[in-house]
Amino acid sequence: MAQATQDKAINSVTTAFQALQCKECGAEYEPKATHVCELCFGPLEVKYDYDFLRRTVTRETIQAGPHSIWRYRPFLPVTSENPIDVGTGMTPLLQANRLARRLGLKKLYIKNDAVNMPTLSFKDRVVSVALTRARELGFTTVSCASTGNLANSTAAIAAHAGLDCCVFIPSDLEAGKVLGTLIYNPTLMAVHGNYDQVNRLCSEVANTHGWGFVNINLRPYYSEGSKTLGYEVIEQLGWQLPDHIVAPLASGSLFTKIYKGFQEFVKVGLVDEKPVRFSGAQAEGCSPIAQAFSEGRDFISPVKPNTIAKSLAIGNPADGVYAIDIAQKTNGNIESVTDAEIIDAMKLLAETEGIFTETAGGTTIATLKKLVEAGKINPDETTVVYITGNGLKTQEAIQGYIGEPLTIEPKLESFERALERSRTLDRLEWQQVLV
Ligand SMILES: *Cc1c(COP(=O)(O)O)cnc(C)c1O
Repeated sequence: MAQATQDKAINSVTTAFQALQCKECGAEYEPKATHVCELCFGPLEVKYDYDFLRRTVTRETIQAGPHSIWRYRPFLPVTSENPIDVGTGMTPLLQANRLARRLGLKKLYIKNDAVNMPTLSFKDRVVSVALTRARELGFTTVSCASTGNLANSTAAIAAHAGLDCCVFIPSDLEAGKVLGTLIYNPTLMAVHGNYDQVNRLCSEVANTHGWGFVNINLRPYYSEGSKTLGYEVIEQLGWQLPDHIVAPLASGSLFTKIYKGFQEFVKVGLVDEKPVRFSGAQAEGCSPIAQAFSEGRDFISPVKPNTIAKSLAIGNPADGVYAIDIAQKTNGNIESVTDAEIIDAMKLLAETEGIFTETAGGTTIATLKKLVEAGKINPDETTVVYITGNGLKTQEAIQGYIGEPLTIEPKLESFERALERSRTLDRLEWQQVLV
């Protein structure tokens, strides 16, 4: 990429977005495509001018913005007047009364990114930001290492933006995730290996090919997109913070950025401060963060993933320690649940609220249930649970657990007979009768 293009992207910074800064030692860097501190190898994060934001942003200026994540543009690390807006964000915040009653809660909300645009997962948020920044920095080819949803988002939004795209996935992903990437016609590399191996390979490619990897050299920008999950919940609750949030953890990035989003709105005076408890969800078959949390460790021991929650299957999570720190200091918890509990929770959410989530959402709902049963969520707390992906993409996981249609002849008596039996048998038993 031409140096002049990078310089222009940096010099045109007129918003609150200022620089990159090391999360560990505080060293500052120009906002280029870089993600690791040269001094201490800590992760880089975007730094903003909060005084500028306090002076220039109000609830009204936000509400006058587009119905997408870009209503929060001053809080995002881009300089473009016209960021890539494919309608990402402003997904529904639903009051989940029927699920709440089943679990014994009173004020439960679901932030439903299963219907995010354009690819039905929260990853559309991070990719919209990353590719806008990639374009500003002059990249013409974008890439990522993905557990599935990121590949879908990167391929789709790159197609919209006219960027070349090459994405990397583990070769054992669900058919819906593979097909949902190929349709956008990127180059798709299915790697024999798990996500952590794919990610390592991508770090090498990033060094040699000069591509913009949304979750590697563009990671500081990419990860900021998740803050919008915090901003939207505040706005949708009528400019209030909830008491407790429950969110899934893969690398831990999403979790830490919801926290950052809440803190920023407090800092610039958009919402009144109050304590919010942060609880995290993992699948038992890949729970390095939950394990460290339960053992009171402040370091992660990497694991080899083995779970149906493939979108959460990161064995060596980059932001794991930061997620643990947030759960600890907010008096939250990080729990893990079994694959069987994940499937049950997917069904529970669908049957009570009409939301078909993927295995990651099942992980989150199962964890919510577990926390309530253990008395770790107070029924009076306003609790927001984040549903991050869509069930149509992970159909394999529930095949065989949801019964079958009742197949009948096109005759009234055939229908009546089937209806009679369906009333006396539950659908799974009915299936057995047919077999
Ligand atoms: C990637 C992903 C997550 C978690 O993302 P991290 O920021 O890496 O923790 C959660 N849910 C779904 C559906 C995902 O695809």
